[in-house]
Amino acid sequence: MTIPSRAHISSFRGPHTTTSETLDMSSAAPAVTLARSSRAPFMRSFAPRARSHANARIKRRHRHHRHHHHRVAADASSRERAECATVHVPTLLRLCRAIATRGNEIIRDVTEGGELGVRDKGGAATTDGTYVGDAQTEADRRVEAMMVEALKRYAPELRLVAEESFENASSIEGVDFGELAVDFEYAAATGDAEEDEGFAPELRRPIALDRVAVYCDPLDGTNEYAAGEREAITVLLGIAVDGTPRAGVIGQPFHNYGKKDRRLGRVVWGGIGIGVHGLDIAADAVAPPLPPDGEHVVAVNRNVRENRQAPVLEALGSRVDIVISATGFHYLMLLERRAHSALLLRKASKKWDTCAGEALLRATGGVVTDTVGRRYDYSYNLDALPNLSGMAASLDVDMHWEMTAIIRDVIEPLGRYPYDVDDPSIKRGVLDGVDVPAGGWRCLSVDVGGCLLEPSERVADVYARTALEVGCASVTPETASRDFKEAFAAFRGSDAADASRYYGDGKSFWRRVIAHVLTRGGTDVIDDTTIDLAVDKLYLHYEHPSAWHIAHGAVDAARRLRRSGVRVVLASNWDSRLPTLLRTLGLDDEFDAIVFSADIGVEKPSEEFFHAVARAADVPAARCAHVGDAPVADVAGARSAGFGVAVRWSPHPTDDDQPTAHDFNQLADAVLSANRTLDARPRLSRFPVPPPP
Ligand SMILES: [Mg+2]
Repeated sequence: MTIPSRAHISSFRGPHTTTSETLDMSSAAPAVTLARSSRAPFMRSFAPRARSHANARIKRRHRHHRHHHHRVAADASSRERAECATVHVPTLLRLCRAIATRGNEIIRDVTEGGELGVRDKGGAATTDGTYVGDAQTEADRRVEAMMVEALKRYAPELRLVAEESFENASSIEGVDFGELAVDFEYAAATGDAEEDEGFAPELRRPIALDRVAVYCDPLDGTNEYAAGEREAITVLLGIAVDGTPRAGVIGQPFHNYGKKDRRLGRVVWGGIGIGVHGLDIAADAVAPPLPPDGEHVVAVNRNVRENRQAPVLEALGSRVDIVISATGFHYLMLLERRAHSALLLRKASKKWDTCAGEALLRATGGVVTDTVGRRYDYSYNLDALPNLSGMAASLDVDMHWEMTAIIRDVIEPLGRYPYDVDDPSIKRGVLDGVDVPAGGWRCLSVDVGGCLLEPSERVADVYARTALEVGCASVTPETASRDFKEAFAAFRGSDAADASRYYGDGKSFWRRVIAHVLTRGGTDVIDDTTIDLAVDKLYLHYEHPSAWHIAHGAVDAARRLRRSGVRVVLASNWDSRLPTLLRTLGLDDEFDAIVFSADIGVEKPSEEFFHAVARAADVPAARCAHVGDAPVADVAGARSAGFGVAVRWSPHPTDDDQPTAHDFNQLADAVLSANRTLDARPRLSRFPVPPPP
């Protein structure tokens, strides 16, 4: 497996996951929710003074988009007043980009004197420590004040986590918010629909504020800054949803510092589904080959008083290429493919140092965990800010898994730190508390609709649009949502008492559903030609790969599991078009078998269905795990068929405390981790095999 090139990074349309049922149409919110208290303060926030090129560009784009934006805002305004308790992640990310851009400028201004009145000492690479120290503090305070103010104006109730000392940012003396506040209007107006479409469907919808936390570091790399390493400092903003970093921004004010004819500074941004942008590296930049084909290249901190580092690096056969004490900078180096991993084997970072970088790494297929491979939880929890168990970040999930297993082996004999530190921010493993079957897990079966695949666009919107196209103008997204759900639950594909939904291509079922939606669930007579036309259009729509979003990380996770001998089988209630759809989505070689109801003649939750899954995997049911979003069809069905465990696909814990997952790589970690505890020694392939103890 090779590490993707930069071309891959910028074009990556990462799959992602959502929580809803296959055809959930419950959310009927506006496309843009402008969740903030008032618009007035934003209108005066850019003071009339010299602008950087970046700001001038934003302003031009703002002018261009002004009309459109205000129209959107007006559409949303009534709802927005009624319910301010949501955020729109693509808009929030745009705001964070604008904040990082402004943060870069503030840091440069403060560092190099200029309008903020700090004396310029010549901008040499090494600067007098005292001066830089003061300037750093001033830059830190000003950037943080601007960040907090801008984000609070966007959404007053937004859960922000920034450095404690600046919690009361608005009271900082001498900070003029008229000067510093980032104009949210500009930020929101620079959006484009195409960019938003890359986000997972779930992230495009308004999200309740209590599911979102924003982690900010106004100036990361303080010590390096003081030592004159200007390129090492970064401005960090990470957006976590349901405790997982989903989008982030890294501003680097002194990128290209000291290089002639190169633009100073950059803002790198991205997220799950939209990839990473703004890196400004060569299109053919590729990482050094992964071990065992090449050396394992790592970034570490300077001055680490850490007795575990040397033995760990020795066991991994790593080459240390980057030695700098700046977490944000480490992430940039990984994103630029200059190293495979960054390692901090002790408590040396906080959630605001790692959230943005983790989102960006995840967006390109990478991973961040603690020292021994456990994921951190970024839910809003002020008692869990330090990464107590260290940090390990890698470009490649599979390599990372082996690496952290080796780290565990090396550090375990060295003492109680960090694998057994009681860290409240370690995510609970998906299968913690579940008995591992004798011999371990040998099959994971995966639900398709609402789990592996999610409709890109809300079904209600697609149905309403199609209805309009065939001349049924009375169908709205609201009626379509209600009537679709009703029909989907009520109808079957035949009139037999024990009928399934899907026979063959499923038209006997779908035609009933579509007719029900077109007549608004009433008794209006609509001629067969109209119904046929709508059926044809909807079939065409849902046969196209663009109608579906693949859960983020699913392919990586399936490959890891299969490489370690765990079969991965799709288990779906679906019509006969499923294999073709999987092929058009490029997924046909990623699974050991596909079991679906139209093919075998029984559907979930019947035991027969799950027995067919176990047979297809050639694994006893007790050694199979199933994951799916439906409580009855997936969870109850798999349990009653004797599966070892049924995992509910959901971002939230369930009432009865059953296992849940909402990240395929985390699920794969759990399965592999459970199996690993059974092995006398892990089978390692990438790294040098350690000598027997
Ligand atoms: Mg499902």
